[in-house]
Amino acid sequence: MKIGVLALQGAFSEHMKMLQRLGVTAVDVRLPEQLEGLDGLIIPGGESTTIGKLARTYGLMEPLRLFAQEKALWGTCAGMIFMAKGISSSSAGKDQPLLGIMDIEVERNAFGRQVDSFEVDLDVPALNNGYVKPFPAVFIRAPRLLGVKGTASVLATLPDGTAVAAQQGKWLVTSFHPELTGDGRFHAYFLKLAEGSS
Ligand code: GLN
Repeated sequence: MKIGVLALQGAFSEHMKMLQRLGVTAVDVRLPEQLEGLDGLIIPGGESTTIGKLARTYGLMEPLRLFAQEKALWGTCAGMIFMAKGISSSSAGKDQPLLGIMDIEVERNAFGRQVDSFEVDLDVPALNNGYVKPFPAVFIRAPRLLGVKGTASVLATLPDGTAVAAQQGKWLVTSFHPELTGDGRFHAYFLKLAEGSS
């Protein structure tokens, strides 16, 4: 199993470490040709406007869309924004290239300036964890899901009902950063999606 991590900007090395810990070959991806032979790709957190502009500069936009048609893709935080079809106009950057593949609408920086980062124990039914083993979710200037449409479905919500993780086929998005915790269950879940594609 070989998984790529888009390494244009942001928290990519933490994802690579987690993948290696799970026994997977992790490849940092900066150019279109590096997508070849991968079973899946993670788009990390960081700054979604910067990731989008760099992806455009490096000619990655179309290759990434083509890759996603067949393979598993997971966007964490900024990566989730980049994968979305829609972004609330008030939160969108002036020049914000989006892959625009997943049937979700997001709002950037949805938790306000006062609360830049926080950690919450999440029940994620897809991980089968419940209250016995909640997932420690770290939010950093995080987006939230405003709309989850088509064949996409919500995987996790905050106690107030705010949707913060979703799946559409082999595409996964999380508002939070599983790579910053010692908990590999979300990565293991993504690896299962990647195994099923190809
Ligand atoms: N606030 C960033 C953005 O809008 C995302 C933050 C993150 O990825 N931790 O792109």
